[in-house]
Amino acid sequence: MAHIIELTDALSNKIAAGEVVERPASVVKELVENAIDAKSTVIDVLVEEGGLNKITIIDNGVGIRAEEVSVAFKRHATSKIKNEHDLFRVHTLGFRGEALPSIASVSFLEMTTATGDGAGTKIVVEGGKEIEKHSAQARKGTEIQVSNLFFNTPARLKYLKSLHTELGNITDIMNRLALSHPEISFRFSHNGKSLLKTNGNGDLQQVMASIYGLAVAKKMIPIQAESLDFKLTGYAALPEVNRSNRNYISTIVNGRFIKNYALVRAIQDGYHTLLPIGRFPILVLQIEMDPLIVDVNVHPAKLEVRLSKEAELGQFIASTLKAAFHKEQLIPDAAPSKRQKLASEQLAINFDKEEEPEEVVAETPKPIVTPTYSTAPKTQTELPTSDALPDEAPLFINEDFAAYDVAPKMEEAAPVEVPKERMPKMYPVGQVHATYIVAQNETGMYLIDQHAAQERIKYEFYREKIGEVDRELQQLLVPIVLDFSTDEFIKLRDQKAKLEEVGVFLENFGQNSFIIREHPTWLPKGEEESTLRDILDEALTKPQVSIHKLREDAAIMMSCKKSIKANHYLTQADMEKLLDTLREASDPFTCPHGRPVIISYSTYELEKMFKRIM
Ligand code: ADP
Ligand code: MG
Repeated sequence: MAHIIELTDALSNKIAAGEVVERPASVVKELVENAIDAKSTVIDVLVEEGGLNKITIIDNGVGIRAEEVSVAFKRHATSKIKNEHDLFRVHTLGFRGEALPSIASVSFLEMTTATGDGAGTKIVVEGGKEIEKHSAQARKGTEIQVSNLFFNTPARLKYLKSLHTELGNITDIMNRLALSHPEISFRFSHNGKSLLKTNGNGDLQQVMASIYGLAVAKKMIPIQAESLDFKLTGYAALPEVNRSNRNYISTIVNGRFIKNYALVRAIQDGYHTLLPIGRFPILVLQIEMDPLIVDVNVHPAKLEVRLSKEAELGQFIASTLKAAFHKEQLIPDAAPSKRQKLASEQLAINFDKEEEPEEVVAETPKPIVTPTYSTAPKTQTELPTSDALPDEAPLFINEDFAAYDVAPKMEEAAPVEVPKERMPKMYPVGQVHATYIVAQNETGMYLIDQHAAQERIKYEFYREKIGEVDRELQQLLVPIVLDFSTDEFIKLRDQKAKLEEVGVFLENFGQNSFIIREHPTWLPKGEEESTLRDILDEALTKPQVSIHKLREDAAIMMSCKKSIKANHYLTQADMEKLLDTLREASDPFTCPHGRPVIISYSTYELEKMFKRIM
C-alpha cells in the first residue's frame, strides 16, 4: 500500500467534513471499509453488547508499516489519496483520513498490525492519546479492538438507542458490506453467536442466501447488462417475492453501497405493473462506472454519492430490469412450500426511512393458500412457486442461522431456460363465482381472474394508443363545456400542451371554461366524457406529473373502465377469446396494478394433494 501522509490543509478543507462516528454501526462500517481497502480476503467482526462494550475487527490485509502506525491516527492522514487529482478518481472506500482519529478519540482502542515484513506493531490509544506503542509478533494483517465507545462523550451515549436497535444497524451495515463484496469472506458475530458468514467465493447469490434465506435467493433472476458508461450485475427477485418497504433494495456503485433515491425509483420503474402498489422488490444491483462520474465526496458517511449521469443510469437500470422480466414466465404457484420457509432471512433495518406516498391504493394480492404440502421438485419446465416467507423478517437473529452458513450450491436457481411462449396455451373448463376462469393444459390447472386479465389487455391497448402521434380524431356532435375555478383553470391552461399528448384538446371558452370539440376515436366507448374528466382530474391533483406518467395513469384509468367485472357470466367462447388475447399481451401475468392474473396448480401438486403420490 502507498505511504500514509497527512493531507495539506488546502486539500483537507475540500473534503466533505462531518461526524463519521455517530454510533457503533458507523465504527463497524469505517473499520471494515479500511479492511476492505487493505485488500483483505477474510474479515472477522466480533461485536459485544450492541457494539457498546467491544468491537473487534480482524483482517488479513496489507497491514501498516511500523513507522506509519502513529501517523494513521492523525487527522487527515491517509494512504489513499495524495492530491486533488486523486480526490476525483477515488477507487477506495476511504480517502479522508478521518476514521481512525475520530474513533480513537471517543474510545479505548488497541491495534496490532503487521505487513508480513519484519515485526508487527501494537499501539494503544485512549480518548485520542497514544499511551503505548511497541513492536509485537503478529501475522500479516490488522486487528483493531474498540472498547468503551463514547466513554468521554456522554451526550453521544445518551443519543444511542437500545442495544437491539444498535445491533440491528450493525447487522444492516454488515449485510450491505457482504453484498457489496462477495469476493471477501465475512464472519460476523454478536456476543459469540454467529450472525453472518459468507465464504468469499464471489458468488453474490450465495451471499444473498446467507442474508435473505435460501428460499428467497432461489427466486432471483440474474441481471447483467453493459452500456458505454455502465456495467450492471446482480440479482433481482421475481415480482412474486416482494416486501412492504424499500430496505431490501441494495444499490452498490463501484463496491460502495449507497443510498440514491433516483436509482431506487428506476428499480421500481423496472418492476412497474409487475408489483402491487406499496410492495417493493428484493434486489442487489452492482453498478460499475468510471470513478470520474461519481462524486463520493458529498456525504460524511459516503452513503450518498452524486452521479453526473444519473438520469441515463436510471433509464438503463429500468430497461434492463424490464427486459429481464420479459423473458420470464411469471405465474405464481398456488402452493407455497412450507419447507422453504427458512427463517434465516435477516432483517434489513431502516436504511431508507423516507417512504414516499403512493397515489393509488391497491390491496396486496393474497395468492390462494392451500393446505400444507410441499411443492414438486424443481424441474426446468416447472413454473415458479410462490414465496411464503413472512413479510417482515423477525427482528432478528435466528437461532438456526448457523445451519445455513454455507449455502448449498445454487445450480437450481440458475436462470430457467427461457420459455418459448411466456404464457402457455390454456383451455377453459368453466367459471367459478362468475369471477374466475378455471383452465387446464397438459402441465396443470389454472385459475384466472377475468377482471384482472381484461384490465391487463386493455391497459396494453390504451398504452400503445395513447403514445401514437397520429391520432384519428372524432368530432363531437355536442362539444363538452367544462367550467372551473380560477386556480383550476390556470393549472389546466398551463398543462395544455401536455394534455394534448394524451389526447385531451382544450380550447379556451370564456372565463374559466374550456370546450372540447374532438377526442381520439379509441377512448372507451360510452365513457368518453368521463375519461376526459378523469384525465383532467389527474392533471389538477398532480400538476407536476410528467407526460410519461400521465399517459401511464390514463392508460390504467381507461383499462379499469368497462372491463368485465367480477360476477359476470362468460360463455365458453368468451373465455377462450379472453385467454387467447391474454397470451398476446407483453406482460400477461399481472394486472396494471400489479395484482396476479393467473395462479397455477401443477399436475404434480394436484396428485400430491389427493395423495395419489406421496
Ligand atoms: P482513510 O481510510 O480515509 O484513509 P482512516 O483514518 O480510516 O482514513 O485510516 C487511515 C489510514 O490508516 C488508511 O489510509 C490506511 O493507510 C491505514 N489503515 C487503516 N486501517 C487499516 C487496515 N485495516 N489495514 C491497513 N491499513 C489500514
Ligand atoms: Mg477509512
